[in-house]
Amino acid sequence: MPDRTYQHPETIIQHLGEEVKPHGAVVPPIYQNSLFVFDDTFQFETSFQVQEPPDRRHNYSRISNPTLDVAEAKIAALEGMEAAKVFGSGMAAISAAIFSAVEAGSHLVCVDTAYGPARQLISDYLPRFGVSHTFVSGMELEEIIGACKPETKLIYLESPSSLIFQAQDFEGVAKFAKEKGIVTAADNSYSSPMFQTPGEFGIDMILHSATKYLAGHSDVVAGALACSWERMNKLMNDEIALFGGALAPFPAWLLIRGMRTLPLRMKHAQEAGNRMFEWLTKRPEVDMVFHAGAPDHPMRCLIEKQMRGTSSLLSFLPKCQDEAKLRRFSDALNIFQLGVSWGGFESLCVPLKVKPMGWSEERYIIRLYIGLENAEDLERDLDQAMAELRS
Ligand SMILES: *Cc1c(COP(=O)(O)O)cnc(C)c1O
Repeated sequence: MPDRTYQHPETIIQHLGEEVKPHGAVVPPIYQNSLFVFDDTFQFETSFQVQEPPDRRHNYSRISNPTLDVAEAKIAALEGMEAAKVFGSGMAAISAAIFSAVEAGSHLVCVDTAYGPARQLISDYLPRFGVSHTFVSGMELEEIIGACKPETKLIYLESPSSLIFQAQDFEGVAKFAKEKGIVTAADNSYSSPMFQTPGEFGIDMILHSATKYLAGHSDVVAGALACSWERMNKLMNDEIALFGGALAPFPAWLLIRGMRTLPLRMKHAQEAGNRMFEWLTKRPEVDMVFHAGAPDHPMRCLIEKQMRGTSSLLSFLPKCQDEAKLRRFSDALNIFQLGVSWGGFESLCVPLKVKPMGWSEERYIIRLYIGLENAEDLERDLDQAMAELRS
């Protein structure tokens, strides 16, 4: 049972999982060891029987480690799930989750705006093992349900998606999937558990690239998966033990440290994202702005139902689609840096050529991540670079 004194995310993040303080150290130590030893054979043998804290004994750091435990206890509680595990990357968590739900002959349904490498795993890699898929836009529940077949074993969601920020109906999907015995998974990296907890709507596996908002400082690559203990025990015997994608203790410690400021950073992210949205909508160079927090978002009702806030990742469709000019725009930026990823301290820009379902042609969008810099400085930077889109 979670300790009732830690009801709110801000308190959970600072204290949960840190009740035991070796030597009174206020910050949890880094258990930089690969294995754990036992006083006697009885302890050794029984150590394999219980996976769940607090009675669990650690054996080997590929499976569990006390430093990882701290991060995992917090992430599970924040997501409102029984259990969580951290991984060496978001993709390690995503691949373990996907493989845990399928077998040869299975079919899965995935939103076509999900994170690129997750889609690639599904469309290019899984067919080798006889696992087929259908991509859906995910905008209508009926579309997702209609894509399911008798052999469908997994519905993979990312809401809002991290390119054009479309949402999917968690509750509707979870209700249908439970009736059919289909497992559901959702990538929650964009929102972080501060702004969305898909588990409350019945989603089975919650996934994170902890590299992004959770760790938040662009100094660690990590992933997380939250689910029930029943599912986690199976994952620990299979995909976690066999694929070996565990996070190492030091990056787990960086993740714990980064997460301390998650509530503050997400508050800033919401303000900064909304302010940048407003600024971009007034620009003559901009055709359309994609932002989960847009008041006129086509899925506003669903977003308000599922989310407590929206973050600072957004994109825009520039009127100018000339490749050379778009390159000059990106090169002219001084504060925004050109790079993938997001969720850290630094603002980033990445031009992407995309063709989501429903678009008749491939078009360039510019994805912006708003970091922790001053908003006026960032606007001035974009203002001077946008001259390249007019000339
Ligand atoms: C970055 C990202 C991932 C992958 O995470 P890694 O930590 O880079 O492996 C998954 N989903 C989304 C939405 C991402 O942005």
